[in-house]
Amino acid sequence: MNAEAIERGAVLGAGTMGHGIAQVLAACGVATRLFDVERDAVDRGLAKIDANLSKGVEKGKVDPADRETTLARLSGSTDLDEAIEGAHVVVEAVPESLELKRQIFGELGRNLGPDVLLATNTSSLSITSIAESAEHPERVLGMHFFNPVHIMKLVEVVRPRNCSDEAARTALDLARRMGKDPIDVQDHPGFASSRLGIAIGMEAIRMVADGVASAEDIDKAMTLGYGFPMGPLKLTDLVGLDVRLAIADYLQRELGPRFAPPRLLRDMVARGELGKKSGKGFYDWND
Ligand code: NAD
Repeated sequence: MNAEAIERGAVLGAGTMGHGIAQVLAACGVATRLFDVERDAVDRGLAKIDANLSKGVEKGKVDPADRETTLARLSGSTDLDEAIEGAHVVVEAVPESLELKRQIFGELGRNLGPDVLLATNTSSLSITSIAESAEHPERVLGMHFFNPVHIMKLVEVVRPRNCSDEAARTALDLARRMGKDPIDVQDHPGFASSRLGIAIGMEAIRMVADGVASAEDIDKAMTLGYGFPMGPLKLTDLVGLDVRLAIADYLQRELGPRFAPPRLLRDMVARGELGKKSGKGFYDWND
């Protein structure tokens, strides 16, 4: 299907990522249903979209009329059949569980025609394995958005084995229609973003452990010396040390010992030093 012809879509999971994906899908002209198993999550997701758009209007980044039309294109549901009825695209953003995602794609594949684009927002799981659970797996792929979705420009369009060129082209064009700047990536562990981001992050932590320099100065080496917008240690604090540890463990299993998480990272996670969310990580966030 041509991305311009997409008129109706559904987003499954109304949490951190799902509500943002629903916002950008609706903003580019697609009538969008936001589905979650929890009524509260749907309501919270729709309220967050409203707040994001209001903030955009305040800052002069969103036209007040566009706010109204975007909101008018959105609706919520806790009924999966109702949510996906007539959809041309479905983007899944439920919790990071292979079993859950395979179960959902199995159901979607049976219930939607072969030309409906099915995308997962998984940040680490094998998209090939998710696609294999669906009927017509050639129209299944990854659309990996970044948080906060309405601000971050990148979408990794990830092609599993057997993905059709047409599905990939449609997803790349749809991402552009959403105002994003997509990249075209094959389904390898960590895709393009996490694999490189984790490699740099783990090395920065090993440098702290070796006493090369303070966390601030290691970050400064990358921000001032290499033009990174944020140093790898501060980024680790923002993402959560536990989250980065889980990804490093996964990449070590899939790609080998060069991704082995440093002892210091495991110790900090065990002490509850998880970064910004716990008040302490490589930086003190209590202020
Ligand atoms: P989240 O926990 O904020 O939201 C998940 C939502 O899914 C919850 O509202 C939950 O009620 C709902 N849910 C649970 N089971 C469901 C089901 N069977 N059907 C429909 N909804 C269901 O999670 P998140 O951070 O938005 O992550 C969602 C996905 O996006 C994960 O695969 C994650 O790896 C990926 N991701 C997250 C980020 C991030 O920064 N948080 C970035 C990129 C990708």
